[in-house]
Amino acid sequence: MKILDGRATSEKIRKELSEAVQERKKNGKKIPHLAAVLVGNDGGSMTYVGAKVKACDQIGFESTLIRYDESVPEEILLAKIHALNEDKSIDGFIVQLPLPQHIDEMKITQAIDPKKDVDGFHPVNLGNMILNLPGFLPATPAGIVELLKRNNIETEGKNCVIIGRSNIVGTPLSLLLARNSNPGNCTVTLAHSKTKNLKELCLSADILVAALGKPEFVTADMVKEGAVVIDVGTTRVEDATRARGWRLKGDVKFDEVAEKCSYITPVPGGVGPMTIASLMINTLKAMELKGK
Ligand code: NAP
Repeated sequence: MKILDGRATSEKIRKELSEAVQERKKNGKKIPHLAAVLVGNDGGSMTYVGAKVKACDQIGFESTLIRYDESVPEEILLAKIHALNEDKSIDGFIVQLPLPQHIDEMKITQAIDPKKDVDGFHPVNLGNMILNLPGFLPATPAGIVELLKRNNIETEGKNCVIIGRSNIVGTPLSLLLARNSNPGNCTVTLAHSKTKNLKELCLSADILVAALGKPEFVTADMVKEGAVVIDVGTTRVEDATRARGWRLKGDVKFDEVAEKCSYITPVPGGVGPMTIASLMINTLKAMELKGK
């Protein structure tokens, strides 16, 4: 078994991006600028946004963090999005999800200018992805594909089972892996909570992706010998041995599955860092697409 090291792979990407920034500086060109909008004080969201801002600093991108109280009215948030759409200094921006109940996430997503939608959640970008047209790919699926590519994992003709059909992970990943490209050309099964015989399906998978948000759901008896296992899950579970009182757990029972598979992503240090790397790639691309 080999670890598919998302942290190491993402470090390489960050170094490449940092070199691109240095080159731009040398030529007197604009430095990419990412803005992040964070609503409320959810621990997970604060950690993710913090990691994104830190990645910008490390690479040399500019970043702006915009924070709102949990009770912010939807109109205020929409007005900010319109302002960010118009702001020429900002190349791309994200609104960290989930949002509080009183805010319509789809309305917010649709208000973002697709050319600045570096999370790749806008319907225009999702449509472009389906048609293989230029646009922004959603960060987590794009990160997984990049991880497979940079670690020379063969995907052509492989059976791939993805557990979880969310709009941000499972569904777009199913499309990317089914594409006629490399990585791609998989035969994809997209499983969800109504799927029957999930264990049998998983046992047929050469590539198994767990993206359902249920800690240690995938056990060794669900995994084919030699499979490639990608664990997207990141659930906070209590851990009294840690000063912060919690740790992240993936959707795969790592120790027992690791013994059976050929490659596996750890949690943390697998898909998470690749998601951030993809966002950074999209931010540079947002600026380049505008010819800056
Ligand atoms: P989500 O929107 O909650 O969707 C979960 C999906 O899993 C749904 O499609 C659901 O089916 C399916 N599901 C739930 N229980 C199931 C079961 N027992 N058997 C089969 N399918 C089941 O999840 P998400 O936003 O995609 O996130 C999934 C996990 O990935 C979470 O732990 C999240 O924190 C993590 N995540 C990590 C990153 C990263 O960068 N590492 C990025 C995004 C998300 P139905 O559609 O039928 O309800």
